[in-house]
Amino acid sequence: ELTAWQADIRGQFPILTAHPELAYLDSAATAQKPRAVLNAVETYLTTTNANAGRGTYPWANHTTALVERTRRRVKEFLGDPEPDSDRSTVHFVSGTTEGLRAVARDWLTTHLTDGDEILVPYADHQANLAPWLEAQRLLAERGVGVQVRALPYQEASGDYDHRALPELVGPRTRFVAATHIHHVYGGDMNVHRLRAAVGPDVPICLDAAQSVGHLPVSVTELDVDFVVFSGHKAMALPGTGAVWARNDPARGPEFRPGGWQGTPNTVGIASLEAALDWLDAAGTDRIARWSTALTARLTEGLRHLTPYEILGCQTSLAADSRVQRRHGIVSFRHHDIPSDDLGFILFSHGFMVRADSLCQAGADEQDASVRVSVHAYNTVEEIDRLLTVLPD
Ligand code: PMP
Repeated sequence: ELTAWQADIRGQFPILTAHPELAYLDSAATAQKPRAVLNAVETYLTTTNANAGRGTYPWANHTTALVERTRRRVKEFLGDPEPDSDRSTVHFVSGTTEGLRAVARDWLTTHLTDGDEILVPYADHQANLAPWLEAQRLLAERGVGVQVRALPYQEASGDYDHRALPELVGPRTRFVAATHIHHVYGGDMNVHRLRAAVGPDVPICLDAAQSVGHLPVSVTELDVDFVVFSGHKAMALPGTGAVWARNDPARGPEFRPGGWQGTPNTVGIASLEAALDWLDAAGTDRIARWSTALTARLTEGLRHLTPYEILGCQTSLAADSRVQRRHGIVSFRHHDIPSDDLGFILFSHGFMVRADSLCQAGADEQDASVRVSVHAYNTVEEIDRLLTVLPD
């Protein structure tokens, strides 16, 4: 059933059908765009392109409606049970980096008082560390001292080390920043364990850059207060993204970002609306099953290739329920061949992968690895062929 579904999906990506000799395995960096998204962009630009919120004529009104509609669409896509209420808001940003920075600058700095503590990840994407440290610095300049505590990664289970949580969480814990799916290891970081550890009143901000578009994401199930994602990784245009923010006075002030004023990225927003429609039609649950099947196949294959070390979590198999599956992302190293050479060798066979230190906080050149990341359009054949061209 999944195979027939996938064949139909693959054909909807013009850049892929135009280059059958190449294999795009870098979707964690950015996703390819289906025909439906390209069409939505062209339709918008050739029918009603105008500025938003300045409406005295139909094109402008249409654009304003597009922005409002897409805001609601984002809420719906994220499983917000009340997309029409003001108990949550959606702000468009250029991507996860800008979104997390906006939460840090425009919300966190107005929420904390002297002596408060925040919990932030130290081994995730640097976009999910730098903004919190900057907020700490900005607050310190105003005489507000905030303790930043490191949320440690645990290789054995492939998520945060929840055994460390009782010591890290205290009565002054006021905020937690976390990641949904790790961008190097591909594991689900089990944010519900963080919620259980901090209790119902502490706001949690989730970096969902690697989950939105890849698996069902539900703000209700996750019980988080902010969800930040990049549209371009979810098949919309670059320069798109959103912050979904719960508006709950008990957990803090309303999120009112200062950075977003002026002309919005209307073309990007048109692409995001089409991308979310496309993803819902394709089925994020099916996309998730497909991607985890591909990454499981790759990890199985890699385990039989002795010169390779798979990074992050110890195994991909669910045999041990404590061990994480990899959600479409596998990173590995060769014992002797430097990762950038490996990237070059792979491209000589037509494989596009990421080969460097992967923007991981705290990582340096020695941590360079090769990352293979997939989406709905990748095939079993691509994974099998990759395994045959990896050098010994
Ligand atoms: N967080 C994570 C987990 C990511 O994977 C990425 C992108 N690699 C980012 C943040 C930054 O996203 P963007 O470049 O779209 O701002």
